[in-house]
Amino acid sequence: EKLIYYFSQSNCEGNAAMRNLLGGKGANLAEMCNIGIPVPPGFTISTAVCQAYCQDNELSCDLRNEIKNYMAMLESDIGCKFGDSNNPLLVSIRSGSVNSMPGMLDTVLNVGLNDATVVGLAKKSGERFAYDSYCRFIMMYSSVVLQLDHHLFQDIVDSEQQKSGAKSLADLNVDVLKKIVNDFKEIVCEKTGKHFPQNVEEQLLNSVNAVFASWKNDRAVSYRRIHNIPENLGTAVNVQAMVFGNLNDNSATGVIFTRNPSTGEKKLFGEFLVNAQGEDVVSGVYTPMPIDGEQESTMEKLLPSVYRELCAVCEKLERHNKDMQDIEFTVQDGKLWILQTRSGKRTAEAAIRIIVDMVEEGAITKEEGILRIDPKTFDNLLHPVLDVKIDQEVIGKGLPASPGVASGYVVFSASDAEKAAEQGKKVILVRSETSPEDINGMNAASGIVTARGGMTSHAAVVTRGMGKPCICSLNGLYIGKDEKFLSMGDIKVNKGESITINGGTGEVMLGILPTILPELSQEFKTIINWVDEIKTVKVRANADTPKDAKIAKEFGSEGIGLCRTEHMFFASDRIEFIQKLIIADDENERTNALNKLEEMQKSDFKEIFSIMEGREVTIRLLDPPLHEFLPHNQSIIEKIAKSLNKSVESVKNKIAQLSEKNPMLGHRGCRLAISHPEIYGMQIRAILSAASELRKEKKIEVKPEIMIPFIMSEKEFILICELIKKEAENFDVNYSIGTMIELPRAALIADKLAKHAEFFSFGTNDLTQTTMGLSRDDSVNFLDSYKESNIFKNDPFEVLDVEGVGELIRIAIERGKKTRKEIKLGICGEHGANPQSIEFFIKSGVDYVSCSPYRVLVAKLVAAQLSI
Ligand code: ADP
Ligand code: MG
Ligand code: MG
Repeated sequence: EKLIYYFSQSNCEGNAAMRNLLGGKGANLAEMCNIGIPVPPGFTISTAVCQAYCQDNELSCDLRNEIKNYMAMLESDIGCKFGDSNNPLLVSIRSGSVNSMPGMLDTVLNVGLNDATVVGLAKKSGERFAYDSYCRFIMMYSSVVLQLDHHLFQDIVDSEQQKSGAKSLADLNVDVLKKIVNDFKEIVCEKTGKHFPQNVEEQLLNSVNAVFASWKNDRAVSYRRIHNIPENLGTAVNVQAMVFGNLNDNSATGVIFTRNPSTGEKKLFGEFLVNAQGEDVVSGVYTPMPIDGEQESTMEKLLPSVYRELCAVCEKLERHNKDMQDIEFTVQDGKLWILQTRSGKRTAEAAIRIIVDMVEEGAITKEEGILRIDPKTFDNLLHPVLDVKIDQEVIGKGLPASPGVASGYVVFSASDAEKAAEQGKKVILVRSETSPEDINGMNAASGIVTARGGMTSHAAVVTRGMGKPCICSLNGLYIGKDEKFLSMGDIKVNKGESITINGGTGEVMLGILPTILPELSQEFKTIINWVDEIKTVKVRANADTPKDAKIAKEFGSEGIGLCRTEHMFFASDRIEFIQKLIIADDENERTNALNKLEEMQKSDFKEIFSIMEGREVTIRLLDPPLHEFLPHNQSIIEKIAKSLNKSVESVKNKIAQLSEKNPMLGHRGCRLAISHPEIYGMQIRAILSAASELRKEKKIEVKPEIMIPFIMSEKEFILICELIKKEAENFDVNYSIGTMIELPRAALIADKLAKHAEFFSFGTNDLTQTTMGLSRDDSVNFLDSYKESNIFKNDPFEVLDVEGVGELIRIAIERGKKTRKEIKLGICGEHGANPQSIEFFIKSGVDYVSCSPYRVLVAKLVAAQLSI
């Protein structure tokens, strides 16, 4: 079995397709060598080795021998020798997993420096540079391999910088650097009881070991949990010859995106630092300079020929990989080296724009584009923005690092953010800068603000991936001692007070501000058109009121799959009539209340039909038990009693009489119509007269779909069909009758129901409850333990239980179609927007899925992806 793969322009054993074996970084480094991009040579230890390492916790003998062989190859390639005190080879030991996990795994740079080789390096390339590298090496090795606290070292650097007024390592002179090296070595001695390792072989193997071990560190485990990355993949390790961005002022390091990762605009977007090494840009400790643009110090102005070369590389890599790239580069004394390329993380907005642009540029096909869209990303675009009508003073401004608006109270530590989230509170996490340790807190926070760092800092990259608002380098932000408050100029905000941040503009405001839904971009609309062209099932919305219907239409709903008529009764100006209807004994009172309700429902239906402009609308007749409408509050009971001329006592008796032990399985759905046909009668008239009037007044043809809930027997259905037909005699309206399939018995007798039903709509919420005998409201308490014990993989109310509930759906479809081949089939439960469940529904042959208006677009996207 081959353990290691070499990469260089002249000898390359890997390529992009070997991602599983070489990790993303390794596979792309090899691919870049293959297509002639300048990459420092090196070799990749495969992910299979990591899997073995995770079992044995040590590097095998075979592996150690192979590493030696490959180091020899590298030495002859470069013409330097590892550990040689005249002409030393230095290498980086870089992690690189299959799925990108930015910054989560460890990397060690400048391996191969010791008291002897540093002298050799100094003679060859300058003393200042050599000791700068030695400082960096000891600092990184100590933290990654020796597991010493990074701050022990950073504090020394900070205090030396302060003493000499320097801004970074690059401004310190050799003597100071030498002193820092000595201080560092003392700390290592003191903390570990051993000298800093001088043996370069030991440095190399221990670094490889530590990088493998970082696969198991807490933050990496958390990151994989949040991003659903499997535990067993493992990371590869890349050993690569160092190139030095910290050599002199003609050297630099940076990160560049081939398109703008916030907006998607086709324009290079990057940052760099002169005389610095890789981590400096990403760590957020220094504020880097832009690649190009108006500013005085840009790469375009300072290093024009390297800049032009970099532009060409960007174009080549993007064309080759057919996607926006995030590229890490280093310039060593005027020569450009590329150290990494990968598909760049981007905001939801940018993702959409890039896809549309690339399809239009002919780089990818529509179908490729649609398949690339992550349904979650898509969802992010529907996030609220600040209501511009509200004029709120901006108290601070920083870099707009990740768009969106969030409000919450201020906390200063990741652990406070986690604690608050556990209590269901919204917080804004405010930090000097974030680091990978903060990942759980960042996940818990609604938004993030940092005092330092640029657009490619850790905070910016991670939040864009999470779809969370973030502001970096907030101007003048000072975090008070003991993290009790923050201040900007004379404005002070205490821990626990709330702020609102706008990650799209970089603005911070006091308090919690109202938000509205965003306007959808032109590119977004283009994507929707493509999705509509490609998908094969319809997507409708569940909408109960004219207001919902409007939203549903705006989101491109192709009809209403479920209009729950009872929701129309709950409005404050209506509830009293349904209450009177239920409580009154007097026939007159009841007729009065019924007439009032009929009028209101008719006007609602008219409005809904009119908004939907002839698209299909399925109306479900009254479903919940009557008891749900009755008051529990003394003053309301008194009011009703008074208006009905009854005693409070008798109203209370009626309420008690209607109450049920188990209302979900009680007097509800079509059962209400069997005992009180007048309510359904009223609803049917309201539907049909609305349709008929609308045709006369607006020439809109509607064919309402009347749906009967909670059917379990054929006879029930026949009786209600008769009721509908009798009412319909008075109207010249086209309509259809169908049933919900939400009880196992209904699914089993679907062949008989289909004799009378023109459509079935699967009410998967109730069907899940009744099939599994699992109460939706009570199961939350024990579902977690069911998931932990692996009885359920998912919450069955979120992801359809295909094995059981799905089987009933299959049976119902098969039996229903046997009786009525053209029967229309739909889904109207919460599962209608769940990607996994939609896949099952489409394969089962439904005509449409219906979900909440805000999820219509996501459901459409998933439907299109499944049709490709
Ligand atoms: P991460 O996966 O956290 O981005 P990398 O392995 O990419 O870690 O290393 C971090 C940074 O270290 C890179 O951005 C790069 O600038 C620098 N680096 C890594 N290897 C080398 C090398 N061989 N020469 C110079 N710089 C390097
Ligand atoms: Mg990197
Ligand atoms: Mg139901």
